[in-house]
Parts: sequence; structure tokens; C-alpha cells
Amino acid sequence: MIGRRARPRLVQPGVVYLVGAGPGDPGLLTVRALEVLRQADVVLHDHLVSAEVLAECEPRARRIDVGKIGHGRQADQSVIERRLIAFARRNRRVVRLKGGDPFVFGRGGEEARALRAAGVRFEIVPGLSSAIAVPAYAGIPLTARGISSSLAIVTGHRECPAGEPLHFPLADTLVVLMGVANAREVCEAVMRSGRHGDTPAAVIERGTCAQQRVVVSTLAALPVAIARESVKAPAVIVIGETVSLRSELEWCARIHSLPAAV
Ligand code: SAH
Repeated sequence: MIGRRARPRLVQPGVVYLVGAGPGDPGLLTVRALEVLRQADVVLHDHLVSAEVLAECEPRARRIDVGKIGHGRQADQSVIERRLIAFARRNRRVVRLKGGDPFVFGRGGEEARALRAAGVRFEIVPGLSSAIAVPAYAGIPLTARGISSSLAIVTGHRECPAGEPLHFPLADTLVVLMGVANAREVCEAVMRSGRHGDTPAAVIERGTCAQQRVVVSTLAALPVAIARESVKAPAVIVIGETVSLRSELEWCARIHSLPAAV
């Protein structure tokens, strides 16, 4: 039996929508994300959200970039939370728009807790995380029968530079977010955990966007490749045997005209 088409759902004033924008290509927004964006009165977004995704907002909506406050500095988290609460109390339809998924290294949990503590209602609209979608656009499956049956998504960013050495969970495929600036330390830590330096590894810069670049290497040689190609954030590192499937599965440069800019 064919189901009925889902009816559009309400977007309510006085509610904060914590929305995942996906990794850049607006084609990867969810139906609910689009519905909410098109009715929002105010959208507070991260710097990582692409111009094409922002173009989907209702044109009269007020858009506030809370990702940067000049000189590359992040806006203070508590300031963002206070603004969300203030807009909701003024009965606005408020969207907090984050790159990828709000609950994957997105501080969505912190913001939701602050809203709950303030008695402000919220809805979480999950997004397609760059950890999943960016390797897919590069033709790299994260699991594959007989090759990889486990996956770990980790951060390569250290909160405190002089802390304990990095260590990562054991998984057949490792996806590292926020890892390019710290690639040498990340790759050394993965080798210390027992992975061979010959393990295939790739870095994907600005995945799903027109400027997508993929550099394939090995775990031991990846930091040098990143420096040589001057790969910059945002970029995803993938480490594991499935990276070698890219030679057969690369697809998107051929059939897709990707949207511009993260
Ligand atoms: N919540 C986001 C992750 C935020 S942390 C998500 O689920 O995707 C920011 C990191 O995400 C970046 O440093 C980078 O590692 C990764 N990232 C986000 N968008 C990306 C893109 N288009 N291409 C490559 N990496 C991306």
C-alpha cells in the first residue's frame, strides 16, 4: 500500500528549533528543516552553514551569524543561549541553525539544556552529519561487508593543548572531525592505538560543496599530504580500509554540479 503524503507540520511562535543544516549541499536538508526555515522569524546560524542553505530562509527572516564575532572569534555560548531565550520569550519562531547535526559536536545538547532550564520549549531537527555525508560524497563507504563493521566518530580538536595524549576508540573506520589543524598528533595517536601506518586514509575539504577536495593517502603520510595540499577546515579525515573503495566508487565530480561555498 502506498502511504499518504505527510501533511506540513506546525512551526510555532515561542519555540526554539535546533536545526541541523547538513554539510553544505541544500539538497541534503531534511523536509522538516526546510519547513521550519521557511517559516522562521529569526535564524541564528553558525559560520559553517552554507550560503545556499541560508538562501532557503524566509526572505524577511532576521539572520544572525553567531559563529563569528570578528577576528575569527566565536560568539560566547552563554550569549547565544540568552539570545535564543530572549527571542522565544518575545514569541518569535526561532531557528538555531547548525552545520551537520546539532547533536554531533554541535553543542546542541548544551543549548537544549539551557532552554529547558529557562522553561522555553524546543524541537530538535536532526541533520545529516558531515561525518556521514562528506565521506559518501567522496565515494568512501564507512562500513563494508567483510572490510569494516564498526565506525567511530571522534574529534581531533583538543580542549586543552597540554593535556593527556590523544587516544581514540578502536573501530574499523575512524572519522575525525576538527582534525586537520592537529593532523600529525591525530595520526600518531591512531598509530599508537595499533593501526598500521599503511592503512588507507583520506581528507575531504568542504565536502558536498563546489569546492570539495579529496586527498587520499595513508595514515602515516596523511599529515604531510595535508600540509602539501594546504588542506584547511572544514575537513573530515577518514581512516580505514574502506578508503581504498573510493577508486571504484568516486561519483560526484562526474554527475553533480555541487553548490558553491560553505
Ligand atoms: N555538527 C557538525 C560538526 C560540527 S564540528 C556535523 O554534524 O557535521 C565542525 C567540523 O565538522 C569541521 O571541523 C569539519 O571537521 C566537519 N565539517 C562540517 N562541515 C563540513 C564539510 N562541508 N566538509 C568537511 N568537513 C565538514
